[in-house]
Amino acid sequence: LASREFKRENTVIKVSRNVDIGGKKIHVMAGPCAIESRDLLNDTGKIVKEAGGTILRGGAFKPRSSPYAFQGLGEEGLKYMEEAGEKLHMPTISEAMTVDQVELLSKYCDIIQIGARNMQNYDLLKAAGKQKKPVLLKRGMAATVKELLLSAEYILSQGNYDVILCERGIRTFEDSTRFTMDLNAVPVLKKFTHLPVVLDPSHGIGIREHVGTMAKASIAVGADGIIIEVHPRPEEALSDGPQSLLPEQFRNLMKELDLVAKAV
Ligand code: PEP
Ligand code: MN
Repeated sequence: LASREFKRENTVIKVSRNVDIGGKKIHVMAGPCAIESRDLLNDTGKIVKEAGGTILRGGAFKPRSSPYAFQGLGEEGLKYMEEAGEKLHMPTISEAMTVDQVELLSKYCDIIQIGARNMQNYDLLKAAGKQKKPVLLKRGMAATVKELLLSAEYILSQGNYDVILCERGIRTFEDSTRFTMDLNAVPVLKKFTHLPVVLDPSHGIGIREHVGTMAKASIAVGADGIIIEVHPRPEEALSDGPQSLLPEQFRNLMKELDLVAKAV
C-alpha cells in the first residue's frame, strides 16, 4: 500500500485547521521536546506560530534513555497541548509509546507520533492504524528504509492511509554528532513511496549550532517538512536542551527556509 506501484501520485494528508502535508507547502512542526508546563508550551507555541511554524510539537510521554530522567507530564500535558492548539489555531503532534496512549492521544492531538524506539512495535503500529488521526512514523535508529516502509505498511493495512514518514538520524560509527541524519533517505523514499516525508534535524544532528544548517538541507533535499525542537530557555530544558533552538535562531531559520523552499 505504501509503494508508488500501488499509487502513483503523492499522498496529501489533511490534518486539521487547513493544514495539508505532502502538498506544495513545506510544513514546520516545532515546539519543545517535552511539554514541561502549561506556560512553557504556550510561550513556545506563540514563538513558533509568530515565526511561521504551522504545527505544534511536544511530548507528554517521553522515551528517555534513563528511567531517572523526566518522563513527561502524561495526560495533564496532553490537556495543555489541546488548549495551546485551540488558543493558537494550530494542529498538534505528540508521541504515543503504548497502545493505551494511542487511544488517549487521538482524543487530544491532531497527529500521533510513533518514536524511533517503537518503529518496530507492531502492536503499537496496528493500534495507530485502527484510529483515524494521521500518524508520523519515525525511522528506527538502526532500521533500513525498507524496514521503515514495512512498518508504515502495518499502519496502512489497518485502514489508516494518513502516514507521514520521518527520518530522524541513524546510528553510525560517527560519534561527533548525536546521530547521522540520513539525507539519502529522502530521494530514495520519494522514489519508493507516495507518502509524505519529513526530517528531524534536531535529533538528526543533536547539536544546536548545526540544527539550522541541517534544516535547510532537509528542504533542499526534497522533504515535505521538518520537525524541530525550540525552547525559550534551553539551558533549563528537562529534555534535549542542547539540541533545542533559541527563539531568535528559530525566527531567523524560518526566513532562510522560505528562501530555500523557493529555490527548490
Ligand atoms: C522526540 O521527538 O522528542 C523523540 C523522542 O524522537 P525520536 O523518537 O526520534 O528519538
Ligand atoms: Mn527530543
